[in-house]
Amino acid sequence: MKTAIYPGSFDPITSGHLNIIRRASSIFDKLIVCVMVNAGKNPMFSQEERVELIRRVTGDLPNVEVDCSNELLAEYARQRGRCVIVKGLRAVSDFETEFQMALINHKINPDLDTMFLTADSQYMYLSSSMVKELGTYGVELSDLLPSEIIPDFQERIESRKKQL
Ligand code: ADP
Repeated sequence: MKTAIYPGSFDPITSGHLNIIRRASSIFDKLIVCVMVNAGKNPMFSQEERVELIRRVTGDLPNVEVDCSNELLAEYARQRGRCVIVKGLRAVSDFETEFQMALINHKINPDLDTMFLTADSQYMYLSSSMVKELGTYGVELSDLLPSEIIPDFQERIESRKKQL
């Protein structure tokens, strides 16, 4: 069975992430979407909330499992058994960091390979941080986020504004 892990912060999951999930889930027998901790970021949604949002939008994909981890990705992958890492690449700027990450993961866990899917041209500009920024200005979100999570996102933007 060919299993892949798609790791990320998914804060929140965007239409670009979902596009990669759909395409990867049709390539692999099983796809594990893993919400990782990113120490450098102050998240909008907790890890559990992000897992729930991803589960909600991937409910129609039976071979997709959503999980979370606070471990090193290479270690998490080792525990999940034989698998590869899948990453989405938007631009050359992604490539440099992702290439470095892939080499480090391979060094820590020599059985672990990383495969890249190029972003759909429609989503090349899209990142979670960009959506959060645009959200505060009330920009139309329907091309940026899966429709099922837009109310949760808007509610969080509003409660953050009140805290300022
Ligand atoms: P973000 O940069 O949006 O905060 P994450 O850290 O959650 O994203 O990224 C998880 C993975 O998804 C990374 O491999 C990233 O390159 C990829 N990714 C993010 N946005 C897109 C997109 N719009 N299209 C394709 N891949 C993407």
